[in-house]
Amino acid sequence: MEIRVFNNLTRKKEIFKPLNPGKVKYYSCGPTTYDFVHVGNARAFVVGDLIHRVFKTFGLEVTFVRNFTDVDDKIIDRANELKVDPIQHADRFVKECEKDMNSLGMLPATHTPKVTETIPEIIVMIEDLIKNGYGYVVDGEVLYHVPKFSEYGKLSKVKLDSLQHGIRVEVDGHKKHPSDFVLWKPAKINEPSWDSPWGKGRPGWHIECSAMAKKFLGNSIDMHHGGVDLQFPHHENEIAQSEAANNCEFCHHWAHNEFLNFGTEKMSKSLGNVITIRSFVEKFSGEILRQLLLSVHYRSKLDWSDEAVSKAINELTRIHEFKLALEEIKALKIEDLALRESLLKQMDSIKEELTNDFNVPGAMGYFFTVIKDFNRESKNGLSEESINLIKKITKLIADSTGLVHENAEEVLKRAELAKMNFAGKSESQNEEVENLILERSIARKNKDWTRSDQIRNRLNELGVVVKDNPDGTVSWSFKA
Ligand SMILES: [Zn+2]
Repeated sequence: MEIRVFNNLTRKKEIFKPLNPGKVKYYSCGPTTYDFVHVGNARAFVVGDLIHRVFKTFGLEVTFVRNFTDVDDKIIDRANELKVDPIQHADRFVKECEKDMNSLGMLPATHTPKVTETIPEIIVMIEDLIKNGYGYVVDGEVLYHVPKFSEYGKLSKVKLDSLQHGIRVEVDGHKKHPSDFVLWKPAKINEPSWDSPWGKGRPGWHIECSAMAKKFLGNSIDMHHGGVDLQFPHHENEIAQSEAANNCEFCHHWAHNEFLNFGTEKMSKSLGNVITIRSFVEKFSGEILRQLLLSVHYRSKLDWSDEAVSKAINELTRIHEFKLALEEIKALKIEDLALRESLLKQMDSIKEELTNDFNVPGAMGYFFTVIKDFNRESKNGLSEESINLIKKITKLIADSTGLVHENAEEVLKRAELAKMNFAGKSESQNEEVENLILERSIARKNKDWTRSDQIRNRLNELGVVVKDNPDGTVSWSFKA
């Protein structure tokens, strides 16, 4: 099945064609590991993983590289503040970041290189750039001469002329052009550094991705992803470096995810202090965050709001209640051809949406129709064929979106806790509800309708939804 992708290089939706049919070389820019990862970066993680998953689900063999920037000014500054070794500090947060990625249900990448492990390849690439006339050395520093690369700006559509006028000329004046950027910087005292032909130093930021992509994927790759904030200058510079060093096109398809928007009036009150992936996962859950991040198409902005979290919790609850019922349903010997036909149509539509620029909201719309059909039809019983078809559709959604993977009972329990947590319900309120539910059962048994009505009103005040189950038990939840 063809996959259509919006290519940010051409600003057009195109049929995705890897250089080697059936095999994809895919690179996504990873985090700088100086602290716990901000929740804003979780969107880039999940979208990077979504692209990986959809490729795999639709039969492509993917070599996926996602890097860790483990040497950088931010890391060095933070380590100095804490009086710890910068490399060890970065390494600690690589491990913390991997934990966060696992909690978000991300598939492992094929390679996860670090800058500190790629220094020889970085040095070779800088040497090639100097040899090809794009790099120049000033006092132990190597710079990339941007005007030499005539196609500069082809991704971001930024014009070099406008940069020349826009940027203040550097005070130290060692750059030939204001847009020239650092490939290698000389070591300062107490900074991590490596030997190089230009003296002790460390790489600039942009060169690492060009060198890592080349090391693991070769000179030309099929897909490159990152947050929209990386498009300029980072990705523009990656193109300039790779194409000038390797003399061929670096990457044909570029995908950028939009921001998680924190600046709206709808900005959350309850979420105000939840700013890292870790704190969100502790308060809510990884799958809730994933559901939230995938609720809007990756090229649209997504508002970080209480409303969005509530919606994610409710949708995930619906999905996992359905998953439990699907696991338990027994097939009947019946003919339900009409249902099967409709399910096949939904499955085609889901595939169509997933392969249409990774349109998860579109696919989930059809999946919720499948859930609705299941909930309605399962009252009368389903044939084995229909049940199998519904399981196949659920697996398609799980494989490609990374949702629906976790244990349903566990997720429902966490969603329930999250709802309480989210509504700021305390333990004592929880206890009051339990007591009221018990009292309600007794009142109803005794046909004491006055008391039963009083209790119902109090439960309403507390925002509690009560469900009387056919087996006589009562379940309840706080409205999200
Ligand atoms: Zn990068």
